[in-house]
Amino acid sequence: MQSGQAVALSLSEFVQPGARIAILAPHPDDESLGTGGLIQKAVAAGAEVKVLFITDGDNNPWPQRYVEKRWFINAPERARWGARRRQEAQRALQLLSNGQATSEFLGLPDAGILALWNAGLPGPRPACEKLLREWKPTVVVMPSALDRHPDHVATHAYALDAIRSTQLHCQAYSYLIHLPWSQKLLRRHLASDQLALTETECLRKLAAIRCHETQMALSSGRFEQFATHTERYSLVQIT
Ligand SMILES: [Zn+2]
Repeated sequence: MQSGQAVALSLSEFVQPGARIAILAPHPDDESLGTGGLIQKAVAAGAEVKVLFITDGDNNPWPQRYVEKRWFINAPERARWGARRRQEAQRALQLLSNGQATSEFLGLPDAGILALWNAGLPGPRPACEKLLREWKPTVVVMPSALDRHPDHVATHAYALDAIRSTQLHCQAYSYLIHLPWSQKLLRRHLASDQLALTETECLRKLAAIRCHETQMALSSGRFEQFATHTERYSLVQIT
C-alpha cells in the first residue's frame, strides 16, 4: 500500500457493540430486501438499529387491486394500504431484530420523492438531519444512487446532503434493490462490499420478506431471491 492511501474498511468492521446503525428505507420492504442480514448481525453484535421509512409505499395500485379485488383506489383505500404496509414493516423489523430495532415513518409521497428533490423542497431532509444530529449514527445505510427506482435515488441524494450539512462523522454504505439495466441484463449485482449471511440469517431474512404479504401476492418470486447468503453494499464517499 502506498503511504497516504485510504483504506476502505468493510461494513462488517463497523458492526460492533455500541455502534448506531441508521438505515434509510424509501418504502416498507426495503429494510428486509436490502438490509435484512445487516439488521440481524447488528443486533447480535450489540449495535443499535434505527430505520427511517421515507414513504408508506401506499402508491402501489396493482398489488392493491389484486389483493383487495377492487379497481378504483381513492385516498381512503390508499391510506389504508399504507397503514397495512407500515404494519408489515414493523412485523419484519420485529423478526429481524428481536424487537430491538426502532423505526420512524415519515409518510412522504410514495413515488414522489424525486419530484420533491427536483423542486428543491425539504422532503425527508429535516428528519434525516434530526436523526443525524440527535442520535449520531456511526453508520448510515442508504439506497444506491444507481437504483432504477426514483424514490431510491432521491433518498440517496437527501441522505448524502444531510450527512454533509450536519458534518456528522460516520461511515456510509448503500444498497441496491432495482439493479441498473447494465447490471440487470448481465445478471450481475456489482458492489464494493458484502456481508456473508449464515443459513439461519438467510432463513430469517426470508421470513421477514414474507411479512410483506401485500407484496408477496404479485412479487414473491422476485422478493424471495433477495434471501441469499450474500448481502451486497457499496461504500459511499461523503466528501
Ligand atoms: Zn423501495
